[in-house]
Amino acid sequence: MSTGTESLGDAPLPAGGAAQTMPAAQVHVALGTSPHGLTEAEAAARRERYGPNRLPRAARRGSWRLLTAQFTGLFAVVLVVASAVTFLAHVLQDPPREGTLQLAVAILCVVVLNAAIGFAQEYSAERTAETLRAMVPHTSRVLRGGERREVSADELVPGDVVVLEAGDAVPADCRLVEAHEVSVDNAPLTGESTPVRRTADAVAPGPPLEARNRVFMGTDVVTGTAKAVVCATGSATEFGRIFRLASAAPRQRTPLQRQVASMARRVAGTALAVGAALFAVRLPAGQDPVAGFVFALGVMVALVPEGLPATLSVSLAIGVRRMARRHALVKKPLAVEALGATTVICTDKTGTLTRAEMTVTRVWAGGRTHPVSGVGYEPAGEVDDPAAVRPLLRAAAMCCDARLLPPAEHQGWRILGDTTEGALLVAAAKAGIDPAAEEAAAPRVAEHPFDPARKLMSTVHRASGASGGVDRPPYTAFVKGAPHEVLARCEAVDWRGDRRELTPKVRTAVTAAHDEMASRGLRVLGVAHRRLPDGPRPGREETESGLTLLGLAGMLDPPRPEVSDAVEACRRAGVRIVMVTGDHPLTAEAVARRVGIVRGPEPAVVTGACLEPMDDRALDALLAQGRELLLCRVAPEHKARIVAAFQRRGEVVAVTGDGANDAPALKHADIGVAMGASGTDVAREAAVMVLLDDSFASIAAAVGLGRSVYQNIRRFLVYVFSSNIGELGPILAATAAGFPLVPISAVQVLAIDLGTDVMPALALGAEPPEPDVMDRPPRPRRERLFSAAVVGRVLFLGGIQTVCVSAVFLWQVGSSGIPYADFTEDTPVYREAVTMVHAGIVLSQFFIALSVRTDRRSALRPAVLTSNPWLLGAGLLAVAAMVAISYVPLLRGLFNTAPLEPADWALLTGLGALPLLADEARKAWLRRRRPARGGEPQHRGPRREGGAR
Ligand code: ADP
Ligand code: MG
Repeated sequence: MSTGTESLGDAPLPAGGAAQTMPAAQVHVALGTSPHGLTEAEAAARRERYGPNRLPRAARRGSWRLLTAQFTGLFAVVLVVASAVTFLAHVLQDPPREGTLQLAVAILCVVVLNAAIGFAQEYSAERTAETLRAMVPHTSRVLRGGERREVSADELVPGDVVVLEAGDAVPADCRLVEAHEVSVDNAPLTGESTPVRRTADAVAPGPPLEARNRVFMGTDVVTGTAKAVVCATGSATEFGRIFRLASAAPRQRTPLQRQVASMARRVAGTALAVGAALFAVRLPAGQDPVAGFVFALGVMVALVPEGLPATLSVSLAIGVRRMARRHALVKKPLAVEALGATTVICTDKTGTLTRAEMTVTRVWAGGRTHPVSGVGYEPAGEVDDPAAVRPLLRAAAMCCDARLLPPAEHQGWRILGDTTEGALLVAAAKAGIDPAAEEAAAPRVAEHPFDPARKLMSTVHRASGASGGVDRPPYTAFVKGAPHEVLARCEAVDWRGDRRELTPKVRTAVTAAHDEMASRGLRVLGVAHRRLPDGPRPGREETESGLTLLGLAGMLDPPRPEVSDAVEACRRAGVRIVMVTGDHPLTAEAVARRVGIVRGPEPAVVTGACLEPMDDRALDALLAQGRELLLCRVAPEHKARIVAAFQRRGEVVAVTGDGANDAPALKHADIGVAMGASGTDVAREAAVMVLLDDSFASIAAAVGLGRSVYQNIRRFLVYVFSSNIGELGPILAATAAGFPLVPISAVQVLAIDLGTDVMPALALGAEPPEPDVMDRPPRPRRERLFSAAVVGRVLFLGGIQTVCVSAVFLWQVGSSGIPYADFTEDTPVYREAVTMVHAGIVLSQFFIALSVRTDRRSALRPAVLTSNPWLLGAGLLAVAAMVAISYVPLLRGLFNTAPLEPADWALLTGLGALPLLADEARKAWLRRRRPARGGEPQHRGPRREGGAR
C-alpha cells in the first residue's frame, strides 16, 4: 500500500496496513476523521491533495495499434499483395504500359484510404463506448458532517466514512468500522469466487487482501450492511496497482461480425478461384500472360467486398447511439444484435413496470383496515385512527435503512435508499412518528438486512432505560417483510394493545385482510416485534422467531404510464413477456392485468415454492404450454433457472435485474438488462444493457431498434453484393463471347466498391426503423445473416443488373463493326463501352439502394422515398462522381473512360431502374399473397420464418 502516507497538514494518515490492527473505535482518529465523517471543507481540501478517486483512463487500444490493425486485415493484405504484383507486372511488361502502373498505385491508394476510414470509424466507436460508460451513474453514500449524502464515487477522499450495502461496488479501499453480516466478492482481486466474510474487528498485521476488516475498490458487497472509513483512493488502491499492471483485454467480435468476416473470407476465396480459372481459360486464346494476369486481378478485386467491415461496425455504432437516445445504454455491440432476436422478456415488476414510487394507502392492525391519505413522498396526509396504527408504523420505521429527505433546492421530498422503506417512513411521519427521536431513545444494536431470498429484514434495539431500574435493559426486535414469511414466524398478534394467540380464526382474518389489499395490486408488508430477554446479543434465528404480528401495510405503486403501449407492442412483435417478482401472486396479477401482460382469464401463476421441487423436465413442460406466465414470490436464484429453461427451448431471453443476487441471471441471459437509476453496481456490471430510466418501455424500444439494425445490415449486404455480381457478370459474359479485354477495369471496380458504393451503404446502415418492425415475429435464433432470402435477393437484383450491363457492353462493341481481335485499350469504342458499364453499375446501384429499403412495402411511396435524405444525397453524389469520371479529362485519363452522350445516360438510367421496378413487382406480389399481419396470437414459439423478404 502506498497511500495514506503523505502527510495531511502535520497529521500523517496511516496506511490501511496500520489501520487494520486497530480496534474500530480508533480508526476514525487515526485517519483524521470522526464517526460523523469529514466536514465538507475538509473533504474538499483532501480532494485537492489526493486527487479524484478515479483510475487513470481505461487503457484504450493505442492509436498506433488501431492504425496498424487496419493494414493487417485480410482485405488490406490481399490488396497490398495485388498492388505489389501489379507493379511487378508493370516492370516485366515490354513495353511497359501506363495503365498497369496506374492500377498498382490506385490499389495502394485504396488501401491507405480504406485504412483511414476504418481507423476513423473504430476510433469514434471506442470513444462512443467510453462516453456511454461514463453515463452509467456510479455513486456512493457517505457521511459528511454527520449528514448522509450521496456523492459521485469520484469525489471520495481518504477519511470519508462510507455506507455500504449488499450490491454496492466498493468505491475505494476501506477499513470497516461497523459491519452487519457483511461478505464481499473479492474475485476481481484474488480470483477466488466464493464470497468472504468481513468484520469490523481489529486483526493481526498481514497481507492486505487477507485482512478480514478491509474491503477494496473493484470488489462487491454481496451481503450485509456496513460503515467503513476510506484509506486509499484512485490509483493508490490495490485495484489501481493491479490495473496498472494489467494489459487491455482482447476485444471480442460478435457472432454477427464473425459471420460477416467468414462470409468475406469465403468470397475472397471464390474470387481467387474465379480469377485463376479465367486466367487459365484465356491463356490458350493467345493472350499476353501479363495482361491476362491483370485481368484476373480485376476479377478478384471485383468480387471482394472491400468496404464491408467498416460499414458493419458503423451501423452497429449507429444502433448503439440510437438506443442510448431511448435510455438504453448498450455496453457491447453484441447486445444490439441479440436484442433484435429477443423472443422472451423476463421482467421485474417494481420499478420496471411500475414507478417504484410507493405510497402506503392502507394499514391493517388489530382487525381493522385503516386508510391513509396523501400521495408521493410528501408526509402530508391523514391516517385513520393514528393511535391504533402507531405501534406498527413505529416498528416499521425503525426497521428501515432508508431516509426521508425534506425538499432541497429544485426537488421535492425524496427518498435515499429503498422505496418500499421510504413509503413506510412517509406513513410513519403522517402518524406523527419521528424515526430519529425513536432511534435515539432505543438505539439499534444489530440488524439482519433485507435479502430478497429471505424476504425479511430485522433490527434489534436496546430498549430505553425506562424498563424500571434494570441497568441492562432488554432488547426489542422489529421485523418486517413479505407477510407470508413474517406470519410464519409469529406466535401471537397484537389486537389493539392486547396480545392474542394466533388462532386459526385470527390467521384467517389476517390472510383475508392481506388478500383484500393484494388483489387491489398493493404491495403488502407484514410487521412484527418481539421483546427479547436480557443477556447476550440475540442472533438472527432468535430475533426472527416467536414474533408478535403488529399488522400489515399495503402500498400502492402505480404502473408507469408508458408501459401498457410497450407491452402491446411486444405482443404484436411476438415477444413473450414473463413477469418475475418477489411480490405476492395477487399483487402481481393485479399489476400484470393493469399493464396488459395478463389478459386471459387464467394465467399460469407459479410461486418460488412451486418452482423449487420442479425438475427441469417439469419446468420445460410448463414453459411449453405457452400460457401467460407470472412467477411470484421467487428468489433471485429462480430467475437464473427460468432463463436457462427458456434458453433450452431455443428462445432468446432478455432478463431484467437490479439486485446483487440477480447477477447470475443477468450474465446467463442473452441480454441482461440492469437498472441504471435504482439498480446495484453489481447488476450493472453483469448486464450488457443498462436502462437509464429503468422502464420496461425502453426495453421494448431497444428490441425494435435492434431489429432495425439487423435489417439494415441485411440491406447493405444485398446492396454491396449485388454490385459485386454486376461487376463480375459482364467480365464473364465478355470472356464467354471471346472478347479479349475486360469490360470494366480493376481501377473502375475499386472506384465503385470503395468510392461510389460506400456512402449509400453507410446511409442504408442508418435507415430509420420501418414502421412495421414490431409487427413481425422475431427472427429465428439460428437464422444466418445470409439467409436464403438475402442470397435470393442478391441474385435477383444483381442478376438483372448483370444482364443489362453486359448487354449494353456487348452491343456497344459488337455494333461498331470492329473485329474483337483488333480492340486495344485505346480504341474509342472500347473506352465508351467501358464507361457505359461503369456508369450502368453506378446508376443501377442507386436504384437498388432505393429498392432494398423496404421488404414488403413499395419503395416508391413518397413517405418512404423521403424518409432517409442521407441515402438520396449519397446516391446523387455517387451519380455526380460518375458524371465527373466520364467528363473530367484528368479522371478520364485515370479510368480510361470517355464522355457519354445524353442518349447513353438516358438508356443507362432506364436500364438501371429495371432492378427497382422488378423488385417492386415482386413486393406487390408478396403483399397480395400474404396480406400484412396484425392482431395475431401473442406467441408462436421461437422458430419462425425469416425477416428479410
Ligand atoms: P420485487 O419483485 O417487487 O422487486 P422484492 O424481491 O424486492 O420484489 O421483494 C419481495 C418481497 O419482500 C416484497 O413483496 C415485500 O413483501 C418484501 N420486501 C421488499 N422490500 C423489503 C424491505 N426493504 N424490507 C422488508 N421486506 C421487503
Ligand atoms: Mg425489488
